Amino acid sequence: DSNAPLSQLIALISGETPPSTFKSRSVLYWMRMSDLRLRDNKALSRASQKAKEDKLPLIALFIISPQDYIAHDRGARKIDFLLRNLAALKESFSELNIPFHTASITPRKSIPSFVLSFCEKYGAGYLFANYEYELDELRRDIDVHACAAPKGIQVNFEHDQCIVEPGVLTTKQSNAYVVYSPYQRNWLATLNANLAYFLEDCPFPEANEESIRSLEPFSCLFETPVPSSLDGFQLTENDQEKMREVWPEGEKFAADVSSRVTQYDKARDRMDTDTTSRLSAYLSSGVISARECVRATMVLLKKNKVEGDRSSGVGRWIQELAWRDFYKNILTAFPRVSMGRPYLEKFSNVVWENHKVSGVGRAGTGDEDVDTLKKWKTGMTGVPIVDASMRCINAMGWVHNRGRMIAAMFLTKDLMIDWRVGERYFMEQLVDGDLSSNNGGWQWCASTGVDPCPYFRIFNPHNQSLKADPNGDFIRHWIPELHSLKGSDLHNPPRELADKLGYPQAIVSHNEARERALRRYRNPGAK
Ligand code: FAD
Repeated sequence: DSNAPLSQLIALISGETPPSTFKSRSVLYWMRMSDLRLRDNKALSRASQKAKEDKLPLIALFIISPQDYIAHDRGARKIDFLLRNLAALKESFSELNIPFHTASITPRKSIPSFVLSFCEKYGAGYLFANYEYELDELRRDIDVHACAAPKGIQVNFEHDQCIVEPGVLTTKQSNAYVVYSPYQRNWLATLNANLAYFLEDCPFPEANEESIRSLEPFSCLFETPVPSSLDGFQLTENDQEKMREVWPEGEKFAADVSSRVTQYDKARDRMDTDTTSRLSAYLSSGVISARECVRATMVLLKKNKVEGDRSSGVGRWIQELAWRDFYKNILTAFPRVSMGRPYLEKFSNVVWENHKVSGVGRAGTGDEDVDTLKKWKTGMTGVPIVDASMRCINAMGWVHNRGRMIAAMFLTKDLMIDWRVGERYFMEQLVDGDLSSNNGGWQWCASTGVDPCPYFRIFNPHNQSLKADPNGDFIRHWIPELHSLKGSDLHNPPRELADKLGYPQAIVSHNEARERALRRYRNPGAK
């Protein structure tokens, strides 16, 4: 393991750039899937400053890359959210007289050459973009740099996704942190010691002169429409309508952080109350910047430092943002985790129940296992809190963190189905699907990741249910079959009652499943 691709790219960028021989007629900002905003956007802000200094027009580009979406298991909801935000951005850019061009490029390996010919065609001698930390994307950007340098085109990448960028925090032995608590302590201390650097406010882009609209060749760039859907990523009309209502596009919907998090310390684990920020869709697509979230909490606490105090709602919330940085740090330091490898290799031979999902885990055999997986996916396992969580994901593209943990723990420990199968399914469904957080969450639940839940601490879903949904409102909402039940009957319906209400009986006995999981984890390779 190494953070080779990221360090390689950083080294390339920070190396001496030969004097540009390129005759610039514009500055290009290349927007990525994780920076869908104008406000507080580092690469865009830098590009705008450069354009102003050199008195050049700023132009913007977004590349739609269906092959990348497939490779990353991105689902239709995430793509719909992307396209809706792009359409809103096109309007915002247009108000600033900045042309925003979207192009769909396949195969993805041709993206670097497309970008370079775009630069040549529109005379962009300076290219600005924010880093994307996934392996394929880092390799693509290394290629972009390699193609640009000989042409004298200057390529600039900025760290924008995290509050404290990957690679900055290391242990005393200069290794990447693999335990969260010391990482989080160092994160907070480093952040506070360098507030101006990490929370740098990036100025809003300056408008181009009105005249750019009539300038050849830029005028045609204003014309490109943003597609409203992509082949292979279509939502049903119903789903599309629901997503628009629950996750509206645009920067203004993400803006009011403060009102969302004040109860966070007390009720953040309750699935029946709306006490988390529900900002993940906006954060993972960069519709709001993580820096802005931190600044908002400082305003809220009236403090001029970042307070990660567990006893306040806001302080507790800040720590969740550190988890996000932590998992991005893990992704860049140990890229193998995103290639289907467990971080803890000792668990790579854990025997999973067979399933017919190609390319993941062990080859499948029995049809009944596919059926088990289907029951988990559709919320028909007979364990109400698991089913309610899965039905919530299927309907909204989102569920509370506790619901994700319970459903993921159930799949991996009670059903002994490979965590990679669940990881993929979540990515396909979630509107906030993010490789590093999703992989981190799954490997935590499967006990294979960095600082994971120990394999012997297996959630009892019924006890979890009582804590996370004490009045049963969450379960009743998502499982109308159980609407008439209360108390323990609701959390763990007796057989006869379940039959009568048309709700399935539990597909496994938790106690037996627990024994099987312990046996297989204790002795990887054994049945
Ligand atoms: P809040 O509780 O308000 O937290 C604020 C923000 O902090 C979140 O929006 C998110 O950006 C970040 N955050 C919170 N908890 C975590 C965490 N445990 N790990 C990383 N970041 C965190 N989060 C995603 O953004 N995308 C995913 O694909 C994703 N998959 C997950 C899969 C599993 C199995 C698990 C257990 C967790 C996953 N998470 C994922 C983390 C977490 O569940 C969500 O970020 C959170 O539920 C989003 O709701 P919120 O915005 O109301 O969060």
